Amino acid sequence: MPMGMAPEIIGIRKGPVMKAARLYEYDPAMNVELKIENVSPPTINTPDGVIVKVGAAGLCRTDLHIIEGVWKDIMDVEGSLLPYIMGHENAGWVEDVGSNVTAVKPGDAVICHPFRSCGTCLNCRYGHDMYCDHGQFPGLGLDGGFAEYFLTNERSLIKLNTDITPLEVAPMADAGITAYRAAKRAARLVYPGAYVTVLGVGGLGHIAVQCLKHICGARVIAVDREPGARLLAKQLGADIVLDGGPDLIETIKEVTGGGSHVVIDFVGELGVENICWKLLRQGGELIVVGYGGTIEIPTVELVVNEIKIGGSLVGDYTELVELMEMNADGLVKMHYTEYSLDNINTAIRDFKDHRFTGRGVIVP
Ligand SMILES: [Zn+2]
Ligand SMILES: [Zn+2]
Repeated sequence: MPMGMAPEIIGIRKGPVMKAARLYEYDPAMNVELKIENVSPPTINTPDGVIVKVGAAGLCRTDLHIIEGVWKDIMDVEGSLLPYIMGHENAGWVEDVGSNVTAVKPGDAVICHPFRSCGTCLNCRYGHDMYCDHGQFPGLGLDGGFAEYFLTNERSLIKLNTDITPLEVAPMADAGITAYRAAKRAARLVYPGAYVTVLGVGGLGHIAVQCLKHICGARVIAVDREPGARLLAKQLGADIVLDGGPDLIETIKEVTGGGSHVVIDFVGELGVENICWKLLRQGGELIVVGYGGTIEIPTVELVVNEIKIGGSLVGDYTELVELMEMNADGLVKMHYTEYSLDNINTAIRDFKDHRFTGRGVIVP
């Protein structure tokens, strides 16, 4: 809750129950299923609160990591947050608004920036939403969008352009802006003729390929082990598509004449974290987006090759606005496979087993 706001109850949504998928336990082996059950719908408890009727919610690798317990030590040391509703890539229609809300009204189609920022801390005033001192992330430790309704705030909402449906864009809320922010940073570092390598052409990588092709003149190399993902990358305009085999480093050094100018790693685990930086040329930059592994680099490599390494965290509200404009203009589209909320456990298994390309999207 933003500082200084009275915790008064502004209104209570009508209707006694809603359907939701809840996580009851963490399991590194992922042998757990979400429970589909009827729960109490959220209630508005701040003047800027907004309840969104979920139209669609993207399924994210972060959701798999939450189930595995990767986030437990960061946000749920006691394990006391369970059970809760995951789902942080949400779009839908405004259902109910708090007493101070003026930017949206019931019925408006919206996409929800995943982070509920406060708007008044210094970071928010600089536009760095992701650094907000009082931010909350529905779907990570508090209830998110794998349900019929979820609670967010006015500040997180962007009205959808005419003729855009929540289903088409829900994963843009996180997968989309995360890819866009990394691509935008890469675009600032390169010039026509330079190379940007995208590792992993999944829900994020396929958006990054499209963004790079529209916001900079660099050549895009897309790498993925899955044939379907490589085909998608080619269709979306990747200049070179590779399968990530054992000769990846040599191949990239050869086709780029010494190494990639920028590498965006959307995997960050499974051994990729210790290959990615070897794909750079001298002075190149690695942008880490995927996570889970540990990067080990001899310091001499950093010095001799002057490579730079940095992470990229989701994206700011304004970046989601920019991405939605590109989407409205037909430049960047989300490729998705739809699952009903009742089938969310199938969606999770299919995601784990690479049975779809692009993003899995849950529809309540
Ligand atoms: Zn996500
Ligand atoms: Zn803030």
